Amino acid sequence: MSLTSVKEYFTPGGKQEVLELLEKYGDSALIVAGGSFVHGLDARDLLFGIEALIDIRNLALNEVSSDSAGLSLGATVTFSELQQLNEIQSSAAFGALRDALKCPPVQIRNVATIGGNIAAACPYFDLPTAVMSLGGVVQAQGPAGSREIGLQEFFAGLFQNTLETNEFVSGIFIPALPARSSSAFIKLETNANDLAIVNVAVQLTLDESGSCQEARLVVGGGVAETPVRAIASENLLRGRKMTDELFKQAGAAVQSDLEPISDHRASAAYRSATAKVLTERALRRAVARLDQAQASI
Ligand SMILES: Cc1cc2nc3c(=O)[nH]c(=O)nc-3n(C[C@H](O)[C@H](O)[C@H](O)COP(=O)(O)OP(=O)(O)OC[C@H]3O[C@@H](n4cnc5c(N)ncnc54)[C@H](O)[C@@H]3O)c2cc1C
Repeated sequence: MSLTSVKEYFTPGGKQEVLELLEKYGDSALIVAGGSFVHGLDARDLLFGIEALIDIRNLALNEVSSDSAGLSLGATVTFSELQQLNEIQSSAAFGALRDALKCPPVQIRNVATIGGNIAAACPYFDLPTAVMSLGGVVQAQGPAGSREIGLQEFFAGLFQNTLETNEFVSGIFIPALPARSSSAFIKLETNANDLAIVNVAVQLTLDESGSCQEARLVVGGGVAETPVRAIASENLLRGRKMTDELFKQAGAAVQSDLEPISDHRASAAYRSATAKVLTERALRRAVARLDQAQASI
């Protein structure tokens, strides 16, 4: 257990203090938010040489704001807090996020933060897939200020992100989607508390005639080291009317975008077959959500 190397536990009250600690401890510092994945990292031997834990929960990064540009979420907003937001509870556009937030058990939802879930860059987590489908962006705080990193660029590999050693995640921004947008997320796991075998998130924007104007389809949960954009399937959907036949074709197309891994949870072939089915179902759910939203206008 590498956590025995920890010598210091800091609870800084401001961003500048965090940056100074990151500068001082470099690779031997670990940011801690909800702390729910520290054991997971340790069990995978990923905390070798960590000497300083920097707890960022006193930084007032638990704020949420919403305007016509989108939804700004502070890094330490918890899953439970997100679930209580009106925007997330009610909008068809944020449906994928709503679905994904339900996945962990309530004890985890009460402490796990959106920043920690994304920063961990764990391919089996659920929010990365959902947030990527919504075009989410990481706000990274460093000594020179804040910069934005799209999620596709943020995930660099298994438990690796593209933050510099002297940066941390201060927030996540999800851009507002046009009218007639909807999204959905579906996960398959072995049991209620397990990580995903496969998860799929879709985001659709339809035009007035019901044809697909924009589609973003992301598959995660162990199909690769990072969530994957299913480009072939997205291209197939654009410009087409939403039919069951199209959903089946989109599901089949997803398989050509993936090179899933085999591990103790599932074989590559099983993951591929599951991704196909979950894609069809997620598309159906997103369209049903939109129909429901339109009917209640
Ligand atoms: C029993 C159990 C069930 C779970 N089920 C699910 C599930 O169904 N679906 C799912 O998606 N997840 C699940 N999880 C994982 C859970 O969602 C993550 O542990 C959690 O989201 C991590 O967030 P945290 O705030 O606790 O991060 P922490 O544990 O504090 O940190 C995780 C990693 O992110 C880094 N980090 C944290 N915040 C920042 C920041 N602001 N800037 C830079 N780096 C940062 C840390 O250094 C660390 O490397 C489960 C976990 C457990 C223990």
